Amino acid sequence: MSRYEEVRELAKKSVAPHTNAADKEGRFPKESFEALREAGYFGLMIPKEFGGSGGTLSDHAEVCMALAESCATTALCYMMHNVASYSIVASGSDEMKKEKLPAIAQGKKVMALAFSESGSGTHFYLPELSAKKEGEKIALNGRKSFVTTARFADEYLVDANSIEAEGLDIWSVPSEAKGIVFEDAQWDGLGMRGNNSMPMSLENVTLSSSDRVGKAGEGGAILSNIIAPYFVTGLAAVYSGVASAAQDVAIKYAKTRKYPDGSTLSGIPTVQEHLAKIYRLTQSARHYTFAAAKNGTQNAPNAVADMFAARINASENVVEVCRLAMKIGGGNAYAKRLPLERYLRDSYAAAVMAPSTDVLAIWLAQALIAES
Ligand SMILES: Cc1cc2nc3c(=O)[nH]c(=O)nc-3n(C[C@H](O)[C@H](O)[C@H](O)COP(=O)(O)OP(=O)(O)OC[C@H]3O[C@@H](n4cnc5c(N)ncnc54)[C@H](O)[C@@H]3O)c2cc1C
Repeated sequence: MSRYEEVRELAKKSVAPHTNAADKEGRFPKESFEALREAGYFGLMIPKEFGGSGGTLSDHAEVCMALAESCATTALCYMMHNVASYSIVASGSDEMKKEKLPAIAQGKKVMALAFSESGSGTHFYLPELSAKKEGEKIALNGRKSFVTTARFADEYLVDANSIEAEGLDIWSVPSEAKGIVFEDAQWDGLGMRGNNSMPMSLENVTLSSSDRVGKAGEGGAILSNIIAPYFVTGLAAVYSGVASAAQDVAIKYAKTRKYPDGSTLSGIPTVQEHLAKIYRLTQSARHYTFAAAKNGTQNAPNAVADMFAARINASENVVEVCRLAMKIGGGNAYAKRLPLERYLRDSYAAAVMAPSTDVLAIWLAQALIAES
């Protein structure tokens, strides 16, 4: 069984049963995270020498896609954990790796990303969050506007303007640090409702220079070279997974919905056209995501352009797939008797997350121009 199939089975059994409640009640899917922890998936991106699985970008994409077929929220929160943990693998000091990676691999530490701010919006690489020296220590002050897994993470990667060099720093901030304040009431999302993606203020949060990921001023390079590719490919995987789930429900519903004369919805040519388009768009999202992740893993030419394009492709396709699936589901879909409306709501987040697909399209064009 491939890793993708293995996670798909695990998710059907231990994640899917909690998805509806997470959506309806807007609560974090703790049980699903527990199942992933027990199965050892929090260590996917951690090298074997630190007790992890030594996974690649392709493994990251496969696991995120398989999870999203059962629960988009679980997949997105998990995806961000992988991106944050891999940033430490790729850029942390030896001491930081020794301290944090075994705990992440054992599932004792859940990681999250705290980059977006109300001011900078989708331009997360332009933070206003300030750092100041306090003797030997560094104090962070400011507010991050969306932090997925907020109250359920043990550590956050936070970007701030560097005080010791030109550019940005990325800090690893533990959840128990004094001065972290969450705004629970600010998260009531249209979709991805179990995400816990709320604002987090840092009020004089005191850190040591050893809490910085990478050297002073290296934050911009970490964002571009590590975080962006893993995050963008991870988003492509999550929303391809949502499209797959919608595709499966639409096909099944069309085959089983019967009229009094015994005919089925699937016998109607217009519905067949919708199904054909749903399949084409879903498979295009899935296959391009896997291909982009493989290219990224192998550092192939055009890998960056493919990762960006795969995310834009998946983000656009999932919304269209869900729109057509809703048509096939008709009144039952609208009355929420099918999960299609949840997929549609979840799918709208695909384009919004930073860098938004509009911004990413510009980056894609710039990557193509630079490579040609
Ligand atoms: C479900 C969810 C989970 C999230 N989780 C996290 C998280 O864990 N960590 C985190 O840091 N952030 C997170 N975010 C925040 C997200 O990544 C974005 O930063 C945030 O939603 C952007 O906010 P904004 O509306 O202020 O963007 P704005 O900057 O106001 O952009 C609004 C729209 O304008 C367009 N736009 C803006 N600038 C340009 C441009 N130069 N060119 C073309 N078009 C442009 C884009 O289409 C964009 O979608 C999350 C958001 C959502 C919805």
